[in-house]
Amino acid sequence: NASRLIGKTVLVTGASSGIGAATAILFARGGANVILVARRADALSRVSDACLAAHKESGLIDGGKFATVQLDVSDRTQVAALWSKVPQDLRDVDILVNNAGFVLGVEHVGEIADADIDSMFATNVFGLISMTQLLVKDFKAKKSGHVINLGSIAGIEPYAGGSIYTATKHAVNAFTGSLMRELVNTPIRVTEIQPGMVETEFSIIRYRGDTSAAKKVYQGLQPLTAEDIAEEIVWVAARPPHVNIASMLVFPTNQA
Ligand code: NDP
Repeated sequence: NASRLIGKTVLVTGASSGIGAATAILFARGGANVILVARRADALSRVSDACLAAHKESGLIDGGKFATVQLDVSDRTQVAALWSKVPQDLRDVDILVNNAGFVLGVEHVGEIADADIDSMFATNVFGLISMTQLLVKDFKAKKSGHVINLGSIAGIEPYAGGSIYTATKHAVNAFTGSLMRELVNTPIRVTEIQPGMVETEFSIIRYRGDTSAAKKVYQGLQPLTAEDIAEEIVWVAARPPHVNIASMLVFPTNQA
């Protein structure tokens, strides 16, 4: 029942594009308040405007609240200072969507730059952990909350040319599973969403800006859209409080 989202406050990392942007907008349409976190301030403010428009269009309730926070989740100092950038009336968060993440390059082991190894782990793993540490403290104190982490099929099945990215997503899978078990006797829910191929800026970043190489990945199949995954995330969050969707693997119908 989507009405369970009305008046809830959701924090989405990586909300400036792709799955995170679509998720923020869909939560806004469902009557939720949203804190949008990412590094690109201009893109964030465009998504925030779209949230406001979606919220108004829904006609569910008046006065949805939206805030943008320019923040690099891989920087622990910035994460620790998060609340200083969030308006007072949005600091009581109900749902954390840890979505910020990327894959950079398709090089094989032995050829991968140290900086790429470090940056993927810093965002996909350490950033996700830092954000979870921060929010789970509050969730424990108020005895409610929901952590929704973006894993990937790459967190289940490694592939050649994806050693670092798949290692980060396996780490997300392990971390999320442990967190769920730690919180099993609390009302706090923990979910991992594991998408297959979704057409977003993700593939362009993987191929370092080579858009034609990025596009080739989708040849012969119809990839998911960011909105497809946003629908799953919002659906998961709208289950009754005693129902925890532990994980959800979502594939394009024709992805092997
Ligand atoms: P996008 O590139 O469209 O979005 C990634 C988002 O993460 C952007 O908003 C980016 O914003 C943000 N981001 C990246 N690094 C940081 C950082 N250090 N701090 C804060 N924000 C950051 O890709 P997707 O929407 O496709 O990806 C979203 C998630 O889904 C990722 O975790 C990805 O691994 C996962 N996924 C994607 C799949 C796909 O096929 N697309 C498949 C399976 C999983 P900014 O640059 O403004 O900081």
